[in-house]
Amino acid sequence: MKWYQLDVERIEQKLHVTANRGLTDKQVEQRRKQYGENVLEAQKQTSRWLIFLKQFQDFMVLVLLAATLIAGLLGEYIDAIAIMVIVLVNGVIGFFQEQKAEKSLEKLKELSAPMAHVLRNGHWEKISSRDIVIGDIVRLQSGDRVPADLRIVQSSSLETEESALTGESLPVTKHATAITADELDPQDQANMGFMGTMVTRGSGIGIVVGTGMDTVMGQIASLMVNTKKLPTPLERKLAELGKILIFVSLILTALVVILGVIQGHQIYHMFLAGVSLAVAAIPEGLPAIVTVALALGVQRMIRRKAIVRKLSAVETLGCASVICSDKTGTMTENKMTVKEIYVNGNHLYVTGDGYDTRGDYFLGERKVNEEHPNLESMLLYGMLCNNSSLQVKKGKYLVDGDPTDGALLIAARKMGISASEGERYRVVKELPFDSDRKRMSVVVEDDNQMRFLVTKGAPEVLLPRCSFHVQEHGRQVMKEQDKGRIEQAINHMANKAMRTLAIGMKPLSKEDSLDAPLLENDLTFFGLYGMIDPPRKEVKPAIEECRQAGIKTVMITGDHVKTARAIAENLNILPENGKVLEGRQLNQMSVSELEDIIDDTYVFARVTPEHKLKIVKAFQQRGHVVAMTGDGVNDAPAIKASDIGISMGRSGTDVTKEASSLILMDDNFATIKSAIKEGRNIYENIRKFIRYILASNVGEILVMLFAMLLALPLPLVPVQILWVNLVTDGLPAMALGMDKAEGDSMRRKPRDPKEGVFANGLGYRIVTRGFLIGTVTLITFMLAYQDNPDNLIYAQTVAFTTLVMSQLIHVFDCRSEHSVFARNPFENMYLVMAVLSSLLLLLVVIYWEPLQPIFHTTALSLRDWMLILVFGSLPSVLFGFNTKRR
Ligand code: ATP
Repeated sequence: MKWYQLDVERIEQKLHVTANRGLTDKQVEQRRKQYGENVLEAQKQTSRWLIFLKQFQDFMVLVLLAATLIAGLLGEYIDAIAIMVIVLVNGVIGFFQEQKAEKSLEKLKELSAPMAHVLRNGHWEKISSRDIVIGDIVRLQSGDRVPADLRIVQSSSLETEESALTGESLPVTKHATAITADELDPQDQANMGFMGTMVTRGSGIGIVVGTGMDTVMGQIASLMVNTKKLPTPLERKLAELGKILIFVSLILTALVVILGVIQGHQIYHMFLAGVSLAVAAIPEGLPAIVTVALALGVQRMIRRKAIVRKLSAVETLGCASVICSDKTGTMTENKMTVKEIYVNGNHLYVTGDGYDTRGDYFLGERKVNEEHPNLESMLLYGMLCNNSSLQVKKGKYLVDGDPTDGALLIAARKMGISASEGERYRVVKELPFDSDRKRMSVVVEDDNQMRFLVTKGAPEVLLPRCSFHVQEHGRQVMKEQDKGRIEQAINHMANKAMRTLAIGMKPLSKEDSLDAPLLENDLTFFGLYGMIDPPRKEVKPAIEECRQAGIKTVMITGDHVKTARAIAENLNILPENGKVLEGRQLNQMSVSELEDIIDDTYVFARVTPEHKLKIVKAFQQRGHVVAMTGDGVNDAPAIKASDIGISMGRSGTDVTKEASSLILMDDNFATIKSAIKEGRNIYENIRKFIRYILASNVGEILVMLFAMLLALPLPLVPVQILWVNLVTDGLPAMALGMDKAEGDSMRRKPRDPKEGVFANGLGYRIVTRGFLIGTVTLITFMLAYQDNPDNLIYAQTVAFTTLVMSQLIHVFDCRSEHSVFARNPFENMYLVMAVLSSLLLLLVVIYWEPLQPIFHTTALSLRDWMLILVFGSLPSVLFGFNTKRR
C-alpha cells in the first residue's frame, strides 16, 4: 500500500502519532537518530588541504618558487629560505581569509534556512525544516515551501505548485481523502504534499511520511539545487581589470629586468628581483580580497538584522535610488488595535491600547454595552471569520496569527465575548484571505445546524456585494444613499490613518452549494471596524536619512487610499505636490504611461501584488535602481524583477524569501536603510583598499624602474619587496576593509551602477600617490647612496624604510574621499593596530641583528628617520590641502 491509498487513521497507526497532538519529544529524538536530518545530501565540501594548496597555484608564485629553488641550488640559502617562508606565510593568511569568508557565508545559509510549523506535544511550534522527522504533523500556509513529503489530512482550498518536481507550473488542488488507484505518479497523488514544492493558496495540515533523501525530491538527484557561487558584478569587473593589470605589471617588470641587465646587473639577480616584483605588484588577489570584504560586510549586516542572500546584493544596495516598501509591518508596527466601530449608522469609540483586553465602547460620552443593537453580533462575526488566536504569556495577551484578525478578537473581548462563545459554532468551509481578494469568508454552523456565511474584508470590496444592511430596527435593503453614508464613514476613519474592515453575513440553507461562485454575494452589511497601526518610531528618521542620501521612499499598501495618505503624511513620505495612485488607476495604465508620472508618485494604495511588478518596471525604465519589499507568495515576481528584492524574516513566506536577495530579520523599514548604508560602506571600503594596494604597487614598480633608468644599483632586494607585499599590503589593507563609513556617505547621491571602480578620481589618486611614493623612495635612496656610496645595504635600508613608511602614512589618506586630514586617524583602531604591528615588524627587521643579513638591512640613525619621515609623508600630505572630493 502507498501512503496516498491509506486513510488518515491507518497512517496515524502506522506512524504512531495522532494528528491532533503530534509527536512527543522522545519520539522525535528517537526518529532523528534513526532517520537523520531532513536535508538533501549536502554537496561535497572542498577539502581544507585543497583550499590551502590553491593559495599557491598562481602562476607568478610558482615562477617565484622555481626561481627560489634555483637560488637555493646556487647556494643563496638565506635568500631562498626567507622567500619560501614569506610565500608560505602569505599562503596561510590567504587560507584563513578564505575560511573566514566561507564560514560567514555558511552562517548566512543557516540563518536563511526555511522554517516549518509542526505540532508536537499538543502545541504548535516553529522549527527549522531540517529538524522535521517522520510522523510530524505540519501546518501549511500559502507561501510555504513544503518541508518534507506529507500525506495531507486537512485541506482548506490548499493548492501547491509542483513544477520543481513535475515541470507543471499550474497549481494542483490538494484534498485529504484516500485514493484507491494504483501506481500513481506524484502529480496525480492529490492528497500528498511533496518536499520542495510551493503552497500557492489556502492552508492545510499533513503528516510527514518521508524526509531528506527518502522524499520524491531526494530521489531526483539531478534536480538538486546547484549552489555554485556566482561571482558578483564587482568581482567580475575586477577579474577583468586584474588581467589588464597583470599585463601592465608584467611589461613593466620585464622592462625593469631588461634595463637592469643592460645596465650591467647580473641576469640571475635581475631575474629574481623581477619575479619578486611581479609577485608583489600583480594584484592577482584582488577579486579574492573583494570576496573577503563582501563576506565581512555581510557579517556586519547580520548584526544590523539584515541577511544578505546573494553576495551581489551588497554591491547593488549602494546603488539603490528608490525603496518601494510595504506599509503594514514594515513601516508600521503591525500591532492593530480597533479604535472605532461603525454600526447602525453610529460611530462608537473603543478605548484601550495594543493587545490589552481592557477597554470600553463609547457613543459620544455615553458608555455602551452588549445591548447596543447589532454590536454583539458584529463582534461575534468578527471572531468567527478569523484565523488567529489569543495566548497569554506572563499575564499579557499575545496574538498568534494575523494581527488584523487578532485586533478583532481583542475588540470582542472588550465587550466580554470570549473564545468559548465561538465554540458553539463549527466552521464548515473557509475561503482564505489574500491580498488580491482582500476579503475572507467562513461558512459556519451553529448548535441547531443553522448555517450562515460571514465575510470580512476591504469595504470597497464588500460594499458592492451587499444587498442589505442592518439598522436598529432590523435588516433593510441597501439603497444608494445608504452606501453613500457608509462611504462617508469609511472616509472618516481612513482620514484618521485607520485601516478599515467591513463585515457582512448571509444566512444559508443546507442545500446551498458551498462552491458556488456567487457565494460571497447578496450579503447583509453589519458594520465597519477602524483600526490603528502605529508607525514604527525609527521609520520617520530613516526615511529622512534616505532622502538626504538621494533615495526616494515609496509606500505601497493594500489599504484604503485615505489611510495610506494619512500615514504617508505622518511619516513625511509625501511632499506637497506628491501623487497618490490607486490600484484601479494602475489597471488602466500601461507601463510607459506610468513611467511618465512615477517620479512624482510617492504612495500606491489599494494595490494588489500584481501591481508591484508594473511599479518596479516603470521605475527601472526611468533608470532607477529599485529595492522592493514583499511578504506574500504573489509578491515574488516583483521581488525577483527588482534590483534588490527584500523579504520579511518574520512574516515573510518561504517563496518570497527565496526570491529575495535581502531578508529583514525584524521586518523593519529602518533596517533597509541600515543595509543600504552598510552596502555603500562596503563598496567604499573595497575602493579604499584597491586604492591603497594599487598605489603601493605603482610605487614599488616605479622605484625599481626609475633606478634602472638612472643606471643606479637595485634600490630594493627581492626579500624586501616580498616583505613589503606581505606586511604592509596585508594587515593595513584588511583593516581598511573594517573601516567605518565617512561622515557624509549618506549625504552623497546613490552610486551609478554603470560607474567603474576607478570613478570619482580614484584612478587619478592611485596614479599620483603611487608616482610620489616611488619618487620619494628613489630620492631617499639616492641621497643615502650619495652620502655613503660604499654601503649599498644602508641605502637599500633607507629606501625600504621610506617605501614602507610612505605606505603606512598613505593608508590613512585612503580612508577619505577628501584628504588625509579629513578624518580622525584613531577612529579605526584596527587600522592603527595594523599599522603599529607593521611598524614593529619593520623595526625588528632593521634593528634585530639576526634578521639583518636575511633582509639585507642595517640599523638606521635618528637623522635617517627624520629624512624618511619627511619624504615618506609627502605623497599623502601634498594633496592633503585640497579637500575637494575627487
Ligand atoms: P501593506 O501593503 O500596507 O503591508 P497589505 O498589502 O498587507 O498592507 P493587505 O493585507 O493586502 O494589505 O490588506 C488590504 C486590505 O484587506 C486591508 O485594508 C483590509 O481592509 C483587508 N484585510 C486585511 N487583512 C484582512 C483579513 N485578515 N481578513 C479580511 N480582510 C483583510
